[in-house]
Amino acid sequence: MVAGSIRRRIGPRPETRNYTQPVATVGSPELLIVMGAQASAEQVDEVVARLEEAGASAHVSHGRDATVIGAIGERELLATLPLEGFPGVEQVLPILKPYKLVSRELHRDPTVIETRGRRLGDNYFGFIAGPCTVETREQTLETARVVAAEGVTMLRGGAFKPRTSPYAFQGLGVEALQILAEARDETGLPLVTELMDPRDVEAVVEIADVIQIGARNMQNFNLLSEVGRAPKPVLLKRGPSASIEELLMAAEYVVKEGNAQVILCERGIKTFERATRYTLDLSAIPVLKHETHLPVIVDPSHAAGKRDLVLPLARAAVAAGADGIIVEVHPRPEEALCDGPQQIPAAEFADFAHEIRALASLLGKTIG
Ligand code: PEP
Ligand code: MN
Repeated sequence: MVAGSIRRRIGPRPETRNYTQPVATVGSPELLIVMGAQASAEQVDEVVARLEEAGASAHVSHGRDATVIGAIGERELLATLPLEGFPGVEQVLPILKPYKLVSRELHRDPTVIETRGRRLGDNYFGFIAGPCTVETREQTLETARVVAAEGVTMLRGGAFKPRTSPYAFQGLGVEALQILAEARDETGLPLVTELMDPRDVEAVVEIADVIQIGARNMQNFNLLSEVGRAPKPVLLKRGPSASIEELLMAAEYVVKEGNAQVILCERGIKTFERATRYTLDLSAIPVLKHETHLPVIVDPSHAAGKRDLVLPLARAAVAAGADGIIVEVHPRPEEALCDGPQQIPAAEFADFAHEIRALASLLGKTIG
């Protein structure tokens, strides 16, 4: 197992990927062309054709209320085009924010992530639960059965673990992916699991339904571009010392490569406070919801570091408008190989889930 995993990690980079690559955006959208509610498809096409004729390109977003065209090209060149005079055009505005494709300006309607019939975003609340780490087949299946019985929408579990100490358990790797696949077969729950190394991308993409990029890798730009070319949604966790803008720029790396299926996750940031493992930045939720169309979820487990704090923080996250939560559950947290103090004992999960379901429905959300 050890030798195998070393060989896998230092093996040659595969020449070809066996999945089709989504279309990448070359260049940055600089101008927003807002079409009036009555604008026809032909009028949208005319604007796109004029942009292309001038050597620019277009990113068209058909929203519920309006179609917005992002004009991609040199700002100076775009400024010479009389776009405001085109029929159907209501407004032409510069995109001043450094993030473009993820911005709410360009894409006004919320993005909904759909995987194996489960939805997350807009009115759909994603309830993700499972062990921190896949330790054994039994521990994983036992947890999966408990969380599935309580109506969660996805199963989480780490196969490749980012550990502060190189001496700590690093995860079972590919073997854990097989165990997770078995848990999915039994429960029907889509899987969320972390990818740490671009060399594991094929193995993780093959099994995962949602690829997690952990907090420590939020600015691993090569990894972000790699998952931007993968045909699976990405759960991008905020770095403990990253600003909201840096998180959005990290998401921009993924979307720029063609993968617009990104879920953002607030999981606590580093502050001077020592009473909790990190400080859950609740204000990031409404700020992100204002700035981006991407769904925003919260991980109260890693933020708190203590299981007693997970429910109050989860409640606060739901009340602040989060599109979902991701929490850690273990059948016997005292035996856990990673993050024991913050994992909810499986025997207590029914009560926890009951509280979350009640609050989500009070706020008019559907558990996706
Ligand atoms: C995790 O979710 O398993 C994890 C390691 O979280 P984070 O990257 O937020 O520390
Ligand atoms: Mn953990």
